[in-house]
Order: sequence, then structure tokens, then C-alpha cells
Amino acid sequence: MVDSPHSSGAQDSASHDVVIVGGGLAGGLMALALHRHAPACRFLLVEAGRTLGGHHRWSWFETDIRPAARGLMAGFALNGWDEGYDITFPGLGRTLPTSYRSLASAEFHRALMAELPAERVMLETKAASLDASGVTLADGTRIAARRVIDCRPFKPSKALNGGWQVFLGQHFKCEKPHGLTRPVIMDASVDQVAPYGNGEAYRFVYVLPLSEDEVFVEDTYYADQPKMDAEVLKGRVAEFAHRNGWKGEVIDQEAGILPVISGGDFNAALAEVAIPGVALAGARGGFSHPLTSYTLPFAVDNALAIAGLLARRPEVSGQELAAFCQRRAKRHWRATAYYRMLSRMLFEAAEPGKRVVVFEHFYALKGNLVERFYAGRSTWPDRLRILTGKPPVAIPRAIRALFSSGKPLNMETPA
Ligand SMILES: Cc1cc2nc3c(=O)[nH]c(=O)nc-3n(C[C@H](O)[C@H](O)[C@H](O)COP(=O)(O)OP(=O)(O)OC[C@H]3O[C@@H](n4cnc5c(N)ncnc54)[C@H](O)[C@@H]3O)c2cc1C
Repeated sequence: MVDSPHSSGAQDSASHDVVIVGGGLAGGLMALALHRHAPACRFLLVEAGRTLGGHHRWSWFETDIRPAARGLMAGFALNGWDEGYDITFPGLGRTLPTSYRSLASAEFHRALMAELPAERVMLETKAASLDASGVTLADGTRIAARRVIDCRPFKPSKALNGGWQVFLGQHFKCEKPHGLTRPVIMDASVDQVAPYGNGEAYRFVYVLPLSEDEVFVEDTYYADQPKMDAEVLKGRVAEFAHRNGWKGEVIDQEAGILPVISGGDFNAALAEVAIPGVALAGARGGFSHPLTSYTLPFAVDNALAIAGLLARRPEVSGQELAAFCQRRAKRHWRATAYYRMLSRMLFEAAEPGKRVVVFEHFYALKGNLVERFYAGRSTWPDRLRILTGKPPVAIPRAIRALFSSGKPLNMETPA
């Protein structure tokens, strides 16, 4: 019997069918999928924080998620835009037709707490260690389980190569309607300047009109080091809002530093976080898009695949589930090799201040090619098309980048 002062509900069994550790995006969706699609499975979701999902906003293109899988997100109150989205570059402005969706973590928490039975969720409960037969909490409590799924956060690894995506976004309540009707996924007409190093990076502003008078403005740059100067980014967001005539109060803020993976030894990186007999999922398990760092479509797919497996074969052991997740992760790594090559083009073939032309070249291509790219489902003709035409980078550097394995992830924050 589990007895924790932090439990949000009483536990009723000495052993659970599944314990999910980490109630972020991946763990929360996994719990939801088990609840809906494997109702006989007695799972428990263990989250260290006070809420599920932490504090940020996840966005995705409608086409990123397979039509058959979209139902998992259907119970959340989402922001949605069906009139397409805009992109702006120094030499290119376009509206692309794909629908866009966004989910705030506060709504993720609210909806999951409303749908999941209270005894299946433990908040403010930190796992100290995980193993094949259960989880030991930080207060010493032992939770026995037939299967354990590790959905704790991504852990950077020196075995991986690449760079970083650094961003800070603010949610404004404007004094009057802002006039926008569509998201602006990239406005890269802004200065291509990083606040450190040699002063250059690929930089863009991302804008979501959340309601008539609420707008979310995020400043992002792709850089070699995981360094954020929050004050500089806040200044840039304020300057962008001012330039657009949006006056108002900042009512929320998010910030992130995410890896942009260009290569490396995936097996070695997995071995650093793998625990024998424990299934690994989420960003920690390698389920992200190498170039955008987005994980949501893969978290949806994994949640449904695991729930489907446990509904069909309730006898599956923890070892088998761990092997199932590892096979999926390795397949995902192989399937995303092309995007890692594009990351190398970005970080190695293009000078930091010229990285913008790589994206400008890409966004001039057909809309459905762009859709498949974001979904991680580019076809072979798409892949050829992205690499043909007037090269956006010097050919010798492009060839070197093609055959390079990438630069090791720089995990040092510069002074
Ligand atoms: C600010 C920000 C914005 C992002 N925007 C997008 C986006 O728009 N679209 C997109 O697809 N991706 C986005 N990402 C990238 C990625 O999708 C997210 O990082 C996503 O939350 C990763 O999900 P996850 O479940 O793997 O990890 P997390 O969401 O980080 O969840 C891990 C959870 O584990 C918990 N935990 C940690 N240690 C323990 C422990 N010992 N015991 C119990 N619980 C523990 C943490 O509290 C956390 O809740 C964004 C990332 C950030 C940081």
C-alpha cells in the first residue's frame, strides 16, 4: 500500500500494472491513452511538480498528427487557426495553408486532472530511483509495478552532436485588438544577431494571436551554445510588440533551450539514460524532431502505441515493453536521419549570420512539402527537392557538412 503525504489520491494496491514517472507532455498523454484505450490497466502517474505539464505552451501543425491519432488531443481546449499561417524572410513573404494548434500547459493539467481518476495521479511526488520492478520515491516509499515507463525530462549527452534553439516568449493582454488573424510561424526579417559569441545566429520571431486582444510573441535563435540572456530576449520581444503597435500587459512567459541534433551515437546516448527493464519515452527516450526539437506528434503516437499494445496483450512484461520502446526509438532515429543532415547544413555549412538563407530557401518550396517536413514524414522526392535548386550555402561547405557527423553538443554555458 502506498502512503505518501503528497498523494492527490489514495492508492489501493501493492502493485500497479504500469507506473509512469514524469507527468510532462509524454507521461501525461501516456496516462490519458491508457485510461481511454486500455481501461483494465491499473496505471499510476508520478509527477514531481505541482501540476502536470510544467509551465509552457506546445504548438503543432494539424497535419503533424496522423488523422487516426488526433482524437487523443480532442478533449483539450486548444487554440486553433484554420486560415493558414504566415512566414516572413528578407526576400520572401508567404501564407501557407496548414491549420495550426496550440495547447497551454495549464489547460493540459486541467483537462487531465478532470479526466483521469484521482487515485491514478500523484503530484509533488519525486521518484528517487526507477528499476524493473517499481519506483522508490524521494521520501523512501516504494511503489511496486509490473512495468515502469521513464518519462522524465531530456538529458543532454556528449554522445550527440548539434547546436541549440534558444527562445523566450511573452503572452500580452493588449489594450485593444491586435488585428492579427493567423499565426506568424517565422518572421526572420529581424536582425540575425545572437546576444553573445560572434554576435550572429539564425533568429526569428514567432507570433500567435491567442484571442482578439491577446498575443504571444516569442524571440528564437539557433546558436552553437546553450546560452540565454533573458533580459536581451525580453527587450527584443518588447521591441517587436512596440513596432507592431501592441501595447499591453505581459500576463505569462515561457523560455526554453532545446537541442538541435545533427548526428552522434544514438545507442551511446540511450545507454546513458536507460535503466534495465524500464521503458524510456518522451524527449528523454529520443522521440523528438532533430531540427525543430518538437516532440508532441511523437508523444501522441507513442502513447497510443503503448496503450494499444497493453490493451491487446495485457501479459506483456516490463522487459518486453522496454524493448518495444527502444525499437521504436531506434526506428525514429533512423527515420529522422535526413533532418539531422539538414541540421548539419544549418550549423556547419552556413555562417551563423547566413543561416537565415537555409530557411528562406526551404520556405519557398511547395506547402505540402513543408507540411510533411514538420511532421517528420518527408518523401524521397521532397528530400531531393529541398537539396536541389540554387544552393543557399557554399557548395564545398555543404559537401563537408553532408559527410560530417556534426559537432558535439556544446553543453558549456559561456561566461
Ligand atoms: C518552453 C518550451 C516550449 C516548447 N514548445 C514546444 C512546442 O510548441 N511543440 C512541441 O512539440 N514541442 C515543444 N517543446 C519541446 C518538447 O515538446 C517539450 O519539451 C515537451 O514538454 C517534452 O515532453 P516530455 O514529456 O518528454 O518532457 P517534459 O515535458 O519535460 O516532462 C518531464 C516531466 O518529468 C517530471 N520529473 C522530472 N524528474 C522527476 C522525478 N524524479 N520524479 C517525478 N517526476 C519527475 C518533470 O517535472 C516534468 O513534468 C517545448 C519545450 C519548451 C521547454
